[in-house]
Amino acid sequence: MRAPRISIVILLCATALLPCRWSEAAAPTMAIRFGKLVDGAGKVLTNAIVIVEGDRIKSVGTGSSSIPTGAEIVDLRRYTGIPGLIDVHTHMTYYWDQSPGTRPWAQLGSRVPSMSMFLAQENARKTLETGVTTVRNLHAPEYTDIAMRDLIKMGAMTGPRMFVSGYGLHVASPSSRGGAPTPSRGQANGVDEVARAAREQIAAGADWVKMFGSTGSAQDVSGNQTYTFDEMKAAVETAHKLRKRIAIHSYGPAGARDAVRAGTDSVEHATDMDDATIADMVSRKTFYVPTIDHNRYYAEYRNQFGYGPEVADRLQDYVSRNLETARRAFKAGVRFAMGSDAVFTMFGQNTRELGWFLKAGMTPEQALAAATTNGAALLGMENSLGSVLPGYYADLVAVEGDPLSDINVVINNVRWVMKGGVVVVDKTKSRKTQ
Ligand SMILES: [Zn+2]
Repeated sequence: MRAPRISIVILLCATALLPCRWSEAAAPTMAIRFGKLVDGAGKVLTNAIVIVEGDRIKSVGTGSSSIPTGAEIVDLRRYTGIPGLIDVHTHMTYYWDQSPGTRPWAQLGSRVPSMSMFLAQENARKTLETGVTTVRNLHAPEYTDIAMRDLIKMGAMTGPRMFVSGYGLHVASPSSRGGAPTPSRGQANGVDEVARAAREQIAAGADWVKMFGSTGSAQDVSGNQTYTFDEMKAAVETAHKLRKRIAIHSYGPAGARDAVRAGTDSVEHATDMDDATIADMVSRKTFYVPTIDHNRYYAEYRNQFGYGPEVADRLQDYVSRNLETARRAFKAGVRFAMGSDAVFTMFGQNTRELGWFLKAGMTPEQALAAATTNGAALLGMENSLGSVLPGYYADLVAVEGDPLSDINVVINNVRWVMKGGVVVVDKTKSRKTQ
């Protein structure tokens, strides 16, 4: 499906002797037909027709609406259309090549970060195959996330639209994070250093600030608070003053409580939160990104990481408490966004978090909203992402089955994906040209 357009670009460059750009040639108007369309804005349309011009949706109608003359028709009437999905917690640059005798973390730490980012194009492709067209990436060394975001934007790499944090802020620690040299540029102790480090990430081009407010990562599920309330407040204020948002990581309840009080936009992981913190999140509209599936992944793939069975038990215990906290938070009315916390070989499983959301009490429609409209709202992109509406980015996914009666349709049955008007995944053979 993409090959013809690429050849058009080559042809234009060759004949016009103009400087070649990576971006593909302006796409013709496309008319995409779905048997059903769940538009993400509360409507379900039968025999839907989505007209796409360039990278945006021009109109959304039903079978009777006219298709512009000369439009390229994509017949997906066997499928249900949903908005492109949003994964608000990834580590896209964490790549492991699975060569025998190596371990993911050690390999990442021994490679030049830019090389990992280049290899991580595989993570980006696998993410698109799950229907995820937008991610928020929370921590990467050496600004490789900024480079990856911009390469994707240019069209030089294929991958989801990225919102990135640069280095996550962390207290001094003996171990490096994500293959960053030690000490990393995210290291900051005390209010002044925190403000300085947050400003530096934003100055380098970060869209978000990420702060590690507690211990806990990989096989370590301890949740000891590392940053004080005042340090969290300094990071929040610095980000907000510069019109950016902030995500605070806390595995345990104390860091989560102070992160919410300090005014964070989202709390990541956060197991065992008390009722007062949950109530505070409801009133402040703080997003909860529980990343429950992340520790399921480590337990299930423990042999890749060299973790023993006792580690798997610890991880599984954390998963149970994480789910229980999510259940309580959902019942109380906290807003959720879907974050996989995908690392290494977890890419391609980005949407399995939705299964946990159902276990936490959501309907399939509510889980889908967490991965679309809520993710868009968290990113401040609610007017251009997360719904299939005129003027929005043409991010569309075709799934086989009814996603509103079975969330596994979203998790397992993605057949076709369009990002910004470009088809990036196609597992169908039904395309015709008028
Ligand atoms: Zn993470």
